[in-house]
Amino acid sequence: MSETLQAGRATLEAAVRGEVHWHGGPGYEQARLDSVWNARKPAAYPAVIVIAADDRDVAAAVDHAREHGLKVTVRSGGHSWYGIHLRGDCLLLDLSRLRGITVDPQARTAAVGSGVVGLEVYEALAEHDLFFPVGHGPDVGLAGFLLGGGYGWNSGHLGPACFSIAAVDVVTAAGEFLYCDETQNTDFLWAARGGGHGQFAVITRFHLRLYRPPGAIVRSVQVYPKDMAGEVTRWMTEVGPKLEDRVEFIAMVTPPPIPGFEGAATITSATVFADSFEEAVALLAPFEDTPFAGRELLRVSYDRTDMHSMGREVERETPKGRRYICDNIWTRASAEEITPLIQQAADTMPNPECQIFWYWWGADRTAPHAAWSAQAPWYYAVYGIGADPALDAAHDAWVAGSIAAVAHLSAGTQFADSNLAGRFDGPLRAPQLAEMDRLRARHDPAGVFPGYPGVSGS
Ligand SMILES: Cc1cc2nc3c(=O)[nH]c(=O)nc-3n(C[C@H](O)[C@H](O)[C@H](O)COP(=O)(O)OP(=O)(O)OC[C@H]3O[C@@H](n4cnc5c(N)ncnc54)[C@H](O)[C@@H]3O)c2cc1C
Repeated sequence: MSETLQAGRATLEAAVRGEVHWHGGPGYEQARLDSVWNARKPAAYPAVIVIAADDRDVAAAVDHAREHGLKVTVRSGGHSWYGIHLRGDCLLLDLSRLRGITVDPQARTAAVGSGVVGLEVYEALAEHDLFFPVGHGPDVGLAGFLLGGGYGWNSGHLGPACFSIAAVDVVTAAGEFLYCDETQNTDFLWAARGGGHGQFAVITRFHLRLYRPPGAIVRSVQVYPKDMAGEVTRWMTEVGPKLEDRVEFIAMVTPPPIPGFEGAATITSATVFADSFEEAVALLAPFEDTPFAGRELLRVSYDRTDMHSMGREVERETPKGRRYICDNIWTRASAEEITPLIQQAADTMPNPECQIFWYWWGADRTAPHAAWSAQAPWYYAVYGIGADPALDAAHDAWVAGSIAAVAHLSAGTQFADSNLAGRFDGPLRAPQLAEMDRLRARHDPAGVFPGYPGVSGS
């Protein structure tokens, strides 16, 4: 190792109060593996991993990377399915220890560190009788969730969660600390609101606008045989537009919560965030009026629930320790066009643990000052899920084939469930994507941050 490189290493180690793990050194491999929630870990090896204890560690790491020609990749909650923060020529900044949450109940705002996960936000806010549309998986990192748009609980009504970012604290490519809101350093806030994995700064803290919690969360669920997936999703495309935006409406093909049931089934559920139980019952009426009476494997109507119970259900559906691969499209397709293809995906699922999502996200929206731009009313996603590495190839082929079959119906992808390095299909509209590139060139001229995976020139 050259003397300059050695001196650089010593300077970084002296500056950082958290942990520094060099490739090949003790603790490195564990830190690398722990940084990815998915049990499928990319075979990519950062030059160094810095687990930051605070904002100053972040700046020290960015300075080191800039001075030594390394790209900076960032990991907050580590839930991105593809672990794209792992790459060979980089300094990986692990922000999982930036876990502060400060709530101002009067102003209805919270300052939340980038290492915080959804459940922690929900619990901190519940103490103040406040609410934020956190992600469905309780341990999903808030940072990546917000950057990807943020399709959380009651987002149909409150908007993608990124609309509720009031400001961000960032460390720039030059290692400067900036507070960014709609009046100052506005480019960074614009990018944080849904600009996804192509940020041109490290966001260390999000300042969030908060909401009053719903008076009642009530859910109705119906379970049908797997071979009804096309029929059920077809019915959904008629019902979805009739529902108020406080009703979250999804169909999934996945193992049902029926003790002893073997295999996958078609589950459709409607969850309403209402002012009262009585109002919830009224809002769920179109969902309860199905044409499938008598064909249900299970039917639960008007079940009062809460955020913890719903979080546990998501953990049952997407357990940690499994090997995941997924892909998705936003779509405006008609029922005739897409529902036979959903049935086809259900018929060819390589194992019953895999999943299909068909989600109603409602009418088109007008974004605030935001990079966010790709949403369409319907969201279709497929997940290859299993414990056995021998199933990976079959899952990869099924996910690729299912998405290829609907590619002509795509209105873009959602960052959250995408492998942008493998298939880059408009996670932002073209003008917003071009603006992200223009801002990256302005705020990160040396290319300290890698930009979007899979896009040349970014
Ligand atoms: C079980 C499960 C459930 C999920 N449920 C939902 C859901 O309900 N709704 C939804 O929208 N998504 C959901 N997702 C997807 C999830 O939002 C994304 O995977 C998101 O990226 C996770 O955020 P993270 O901080 O954990 O990710 P990370 O893997 O830490 O980050 C993802 C990428 O974002 C960028 N990034 C992260 N933090 C920063 C930062 N501080 N500064 C700059 N760039 C940064 C980096 O490019 C990084 O590679 C779910 C994922 C899983 C695994």
